[in-house]
Order: sequence, then structure tokens, then C-alpha cells
Amino acid sequence: MVDKIDWSKYMTFTSDQLEVIRNDLGASKVFAMGLMPVRGPIGFRKLDYEFAEKKLDVVKIMNKLEECHFNTFGLVIKDTDGACTWDTRIGWNPIKRDLLGEFCDAGKDRNIRIMVSFTSMNDAYQGYLHPERVSVHGKNGEKFGRKHYKGEISTHDAGEMRIDLPEGTSLEEYQKKIPFLTNRKDEKIGKKRNARGSGFIPTESFMCPNSTHVDYLVELIKEIVKNYPIKAFTADYIRYDGSFTDLCACERCVKKFKIEYGENARIIKSNDWIDFKTNTIASYAQKVQNAVKSIDKSCITGWYSQVGPKKLFTLKRHGQDWGKLSSILDISIPMEYPYLMGTRDDGWYWGKVGDLFYWYFKRNMKKRIHEYKNPVLAVTNSVECNAQEMLKQIRTFDFGLGIGVFKYYGTSESQWIALKNYAENEIGLENLKAN
Ligand SMILES: [Zn+2]
Repeated sequence: MVDKIDWSKYMTFTSDQLEVIRNDLGASKVFAMGLMPVRGPIGFRKLDYEFAEKKLDVVKIMNKLEECHFNTFGLVIKDTDGACTWDTRIGWNPIKRDLLGEFCDAGKDRNIRIMVSFTSMNDAYQGYLHPERVSVHGKNGEKFGRKHYKGEISTHDAGEMRIDLPEGTSLEEYQKKIPFLTNRKDEKIGKKRNARGSGFIPTESFMCPNSTHVDYLVELIKEIVKNYPIKAFTADYIRYDGSFTDLCACERCVKKFKIEYGENARIIKSNDWIDFKTNTIASYAQKVQNAVKSIDKSCITGWYSQVGPKKLFTLKRHGQDWGKLSSILDISIPMEYPYLMGTRDDGWYWGKVGDLFYWYFKRNMKKRIHEYKNPVLAVTNSVECNAQEMLKQIRTFDFGLGIGVFKYYGTSESQWIALKNYAENEIGLENLKAN
């Protein structure tokens, strides 16, 4: 039953590199729990500002984490909607609450480090505010029955988030607060990953990584690292939209591409184009690294890595070159969510789907983990799977530095018990304490 893999056979980062991270972290192992404050109290299919503003109980959350021996708290301070849940002078904060500050205060006298996750290119609010910074389609196409055309900006219906109107609020009123909310609605919940939400549909926008959106992000990063005692800054959505292959073909990007690769170089369908995309993302990573380290050298930086086939998927679609990105930032964070694709709790068939993805994710790491040049901290899911499936993932995807779990809301009581036991009996509390 225990599925122990000797990952050191496949990895290229050294134990010296691992020691540097452990030193900055102040513990031998990471045991992290993530929380997405704007996604409501259950899973992650809702966008719920009322909950984040009025109901989210910071101390209760930190008490729970402490009780289960978590030594790191991963807070999504900026989600795909673009809301900035800290005291910001630059960004958009619709919850009018300094959640990051509250969590930093609550973590002070505990053995819990604050790691923030910062959504980068995916930003619905900025997409609404600055359509000229949104990435642009390079050809006509169709996704989930919705057509898009060459030259059009890539603002589409959000894949996973839905919105319920607060009681007594009309759609029109709520659209003033959330300007990227459409009047279209999903009524029923399905079992497929992309059919689980119900409610009004917001849009999402992947911003052009060669636009001034990047300057906006860099300013936000500096504000965060300067004002809050965080231990780690991690960049999520450090990539292009994986649903399409023709992004970003805006005038800015095409012009820059032709200058660098020649007038005759081909956009979209060429290795030059893939190279250009991965360099563009790497250049943003370098800006993140510079911004963080210019303020706090011991703040650990990281990036979220999409997993899957290299050429067709992570390179061509996302523009994520694992070697390039892991040579710039301090740690790599592959997202290992096989049982998010299906869980035994939804019946035999969905259990098999989850098992198949688990098998594939493991194989994918054996093949590709050598591409990471820095220490690897995987994040795996507790939400939408059961305790056995969760434990299987946690055990398998610990590459030496520990494990992150996604996410606080949606973790069941039996999973909390399993996590506490895992810390006590498998990680060992001595590995989690501050050194
Ligand atoms: Zn562009």
C-alpha cells in the first residue's frame, strides 16, 4: 500500500541547495496548508467576497493549523479575480480588509510561517480595467463551444468560479462591485472538473506578459515584501492561458518577436515562437526575483509549475520552461492534483479516473523532475478527494522539502485527523519545529 519512490534517483538539485532553503525557512521540512480567501467556505468553485469580508475567522484558522502541526500557511493573497487582500495603495481590494496583515499577526507567536501565493497573468479585474493589456488571439478558434477570433482579446467565461448574489442585492448592483460579472448563469453541477460550479459566471482575462501589466505586478510585489513579514513569495499563473495555443499575438508581442527572431520568423507555429514565449515568462520570473530580493534577501521565492507533457503542453501552451524558471527562482512548486480529476467518493468510475491520473502524474515526475534545477515543493489536494487518496498523494510527492496541501476550506474532518497523524508519525514533529 505504501508507495515509496526514491526520488533522488531522478532529481538534479543538490542537498546543498536544499540546506539553503531549510536555513531560510528555519525548519527541516515544510508542512503547508493553503487557503483561498475569496473562494468561499467550501471548495474553490465560488467567488465570495462577503465571506472573506465578514465571516473568515483568522484566529480559528491558525488554531486549527497549529493543532494539526502545520508549520507553514500558504495564503492566496491575489486570486484569479485580481482582488488584492492586503492593505494596498496600488491594487484593488473589494473586501476592505487587510487579511495578510491579520494572518501575519496571528502567526507571530506560533511556529507558522507565512507563504503568500500571488496570481500573476490571470487577472479578471485588470482585464476589465485595461483591455489593452489583455493577451490577444492569433487565430480563429473555439473552446467549449464558444468561438474566438484572430485579433480579439482573450477575455472569456471563467472556467471554475461562479458567483451567488448576496441576499437582497440585484445583479445590476453587484456588477458595480464586480464589473467582470456577466448576466449568464450555470444552473447545475456536474462531476467533471470543469462542470462543478453553479451561479453567475464571471469572466477571466489572461494578461499579456509583455504589457505594462507586469510593471503593475512588480509594484504590488514590492509593496507586499516591504510591508509584511512573509517567509516566502510564490508566483502562481506565471504563464500563458493553457486553454489556447495562439496567445499572445498582440502587436507588442509580434513586434518584439520579429525584432528578436527576424522578419521572417513565424508566429504561433514555430520553435522560435515557443522560445519567445518561454523567455517572456522567464523574464517576468527574473523581475519577481529582483523585486523580492531587493527588499528581503532571505524571503524564499517560488513558482507554480503546471505538470504534464513537455512539448505539447507546458512549453507550447503555458510557456513554462522548467529549466529556465527553476534557474531564476528559489523553489519550484509542481501542482500534483491527480485526485482532483476524480475521486472514489463520486463512485467507482471517478475513482478509476483519479487512479489513472495518479499513475500518470507519478510517471510524469519520474520523467521530468530532473528539469528542475532548484528544490521542489509539491502541492497536492485535500479538497474534492477522500483521506486515503489525499495521503497517497502526500506520501508520493514529497521530494525532500515536504508538502503543501490545497486547501483549508474543503478539507474534511477525517482528512484533518489524517493530516495530524501524518505530521506526528511520518514527518516527525522534530522536523517541523523551528531550528
Ligand atoms: Zn502580447
